[in-house]
Amino acid sequence: MIHSYFEPYKTKMVELIHLSSAEERKNWIEEARYNLFNLRSEQVMIDLLTDSGTGAMSDSQWAAIMTGDESYAGSSSYEHLRDTIREITGFEYFLPTHQGRAAENVLFSVLVKKGNIVPGNSHFDTTKGHIEYRDAEAVDCSVEEAFDLNSRDPFKGNVDLGKMEKILKEHPASDIPLIIMTLTCNTTGGQPVSMENLRAVSRLAKQYGIKLFIDGARFAENAWFIKTREAGYKNKTIREIVREMFSYADGMTMSSKKDGLVNIGGFIGFRDETLFREATTFNIMFEGFITYGGMAGRDMNALAVGLRESTTEKYLEARTRQVTLLGEMITKLGIPVIQPYGGHAIFVEALGFLPHVPREEFPAQTLAIELYVEAGVRGVEIGALMADRDPVTRKNRFPDLETVRLAIPRRVYSDNHMKAVAEGLHRVWQRRDTIRHGLHIVHEAPILRHFTVELEKVKP
Ligand SMILES: *Cc1c(COP(=O)(O)O)cnc(C)c1O
Repeated sequence: MIHSYFEPYKTKMVELIHLSSAEERKNWIEEARYNLFNLRSEQVMIDLLTDSGTGAMSDSQWAAIMTGDESYAGSSSYEHLRDTIREITGFEYFLPTHQGRAAENVLFSVLVKKGNIVPGNSHFDTTKGHIEYRDAEAVDCSVEEAFDLNSRDPFKGNVDLGKMEKILKEHPASDIPLIIMTLTCNTTGGQPVSMENLRAVSRLAKQYGIKLFIDGARFAENAWFIKTREAGYKNKTIREIVREMFSYADGMTMSSKKDGLVNIGGFIGFRDETLFREATTFNIMFEGFITYGGMAGRDMNALAVGLRESTTEKYLEARTRQVTLLGEMITKLGIPVIQPYGGHAIFVEALGFLPHVPREEFPAQTLAIELYVEAGVRGVEIGALMADRDPVTRKNRFPDLETVRLAIPRRVYSDNHMKAVAEGLHRVWQRRDTIRHGLHIVHEAPILRHFTVELEKVKP
C-alpha cells in the first residue's frame, strides 16, 4: 500500500506514556470508584477525556512564549493578540479572559437579566449554566436531525429557523438579549453549522433587533466543514470562510483551549464599542485589566500564533482526517457511532453496544469503564450520569442519546494510537454479550454529579 498522506508537522519532543496492564487498571478503576475523572493521568495510556486544553503547541508557539511581554498595561503581547483577532475574526474590539466560561460570565453580566431568554442551537453546558445562574432561560432551537441517530445531515449544528422565529415572535425583543450560535455544536456531537444557516439566523436577529453572538470554541473546525460540505465554498480559503462566518455576528466568546491551540485562555470579541466598554468594567472586576484579563503576556503571544496555525487548510485537514479515521475504523467493526463524525470527537452509541445493560445501570459509563480496563483508553460518558436528576422530581433523567465520547486532543496522538483505541473497543465489542450488568451510584453530589460520583458494580 502506498501512503502519500502525512501530517504537516513533525515531533520535536515526546512525552512518555506510562504503560499498564488490564489487571492494574482493574484495581485502579475500582479504587477510583468507577469514576474516570478520579484516575491519575499516569493510570491512562490514551487520554480521550477531552480536547479542551490538551493540545500540543508548536515550536513557534513556544518561541512566542519566550518573547511574552508581562507589562501590566500596554503589553505588546496584548497588541499582538488584538491585531491577530482583528485580522482573523474581523472583530474590532476584544477582551482577554482566563478561559471560555469567563468570557461568558463577563458578557452575560452586561447582557443577561432575570427572566430573559437566550435562543440558539444546543448551548454548551457552561453557557447554559451562566444563563440559568442569572435566572434566565437557554432555549434550544436545534434542528430535529441533531437528535436523530439515523440522520446523516451534514449540518446537524443548524437551528430550525421556524422554532427560532416562533421564540422571537412570542417574546418582546427586550426579553431576548442575544442569540448564541455554538460553532461547532459540541452538545450534539461536534456538529457544524452551515454558512446558509448562520446567514439566515443573522437575518432573523436583525429583523427582530436582537444581537447575535458566536460561541467560537471550535470555529476553525466549523470552517473546515463549510469548505468541504457546503456548496460554493470549496475554493475559498479557511480565513475567508472564517471572516464570513463572523461577519454575521455582533461578537463572539472563545475558549482558546480548543481551536486557539493553547492550554488555557479565552476572549470576547465585539463589533460595537459601547458594548465593549460596558463589558470592560466587568472584565476588570472578574478577570484583570483590559490588556491581560486573566492571561499572562506569554500566553497571549502563544494564542496569537495558535489562531494563525489553526486557521490553515493543512492543519484542519490533518485534524479532521484523524477524527474521521477513528470513526471509520469503529464503524467498520459494526459498532454504532453518531454520524456524520464530529469535528473533535467520536461518539459511541452505548444502547446499541450494550443492549443487555439496563438504562438504570448506566450503559455508557459501563462501556467507558470496560474500554479503560481493556485498553487503557479514557473516554467520557455523555448520558444519564451527566444528564443528572430532574431538579424537581429528583428522578434520573434519561436523555435520547447515551454515548461514550472519545475526544481527540489536537496534534497529540498518532494514527497508531487511534488504531489501538479501535482495537480496544473491538475486544470489548466481541465480548459484549457477556456484559449484562452495569453500575449503581453509592455517592453523588446535588448538581454536576458526574465529576464526583462514586459507583459500584451491580452484582449479578
Ligand atoms: C469549552 C467550551 C466552553 C467553555 O470554555 P472553557 O475554556 O472550558 O471555560 C464554552 N463553549 C464551548 C462550545 C466549549 O467547547
